[in-house]
Amino acid sequence: MSHRHFCDYAGHEWECTGTALRPIAGGTEPSTCICLRHQVPMEDGDHSECPIELLACPQHREAQLQEMGISDTSNRSDEESDSELGMFRDKEGNPIIGFCIWCNREFYSMEEVEDHNADDLKACPVYQQWKGEH
Ligand SMILES: [Zn+2]
Ligand SMILES: [Zn+2]
Ligand SMILES: [Zn+2]
Ligand SMILES: [Zn+2]
Repeated sequence: MSHRHFCDYAGHEWECTGTALRPIAGGTEPSTCICLRHQVPMEDGDHSECPIELLACPQHREAQLQEMGISDTSNRSDEESDSELGMFRDKEGNPIIGFCIWCNREFYSMEEVEDHNADDLKACPVYQQWKGEH
């Protein structure tokens, strides 16, 4: 079963088959996608209602790395600001690791994800409302 990521380089969702390269986190080989909420591999069970991990899709990964100046294949020539790129960051420029697919809340740490998802997403107003209506 595939799962989704949100490519915040180009702003679209994409299907992932279970492993993905995470060069920004220091990965040089594809690593297994872990659910932010359940802390188990995304392929393990149904995570369609879990927070989406922000990750550039295969098509945009290289372009994103180049813009961030991480890629080996290009030398960072001019100094484009991070705020201009808006990647993995909220409006204030703080890095985020993902967001809630229900209320779009941005997460800055795993603790925040866990808090938000505790007791069947008790802290999520959108999910609670949805649950109340169903
Ligand atoms: Zn994945
Ligand atoms: Zn999950
Ligand atoms: Zn993309
Ligand atoms: Zn939420």
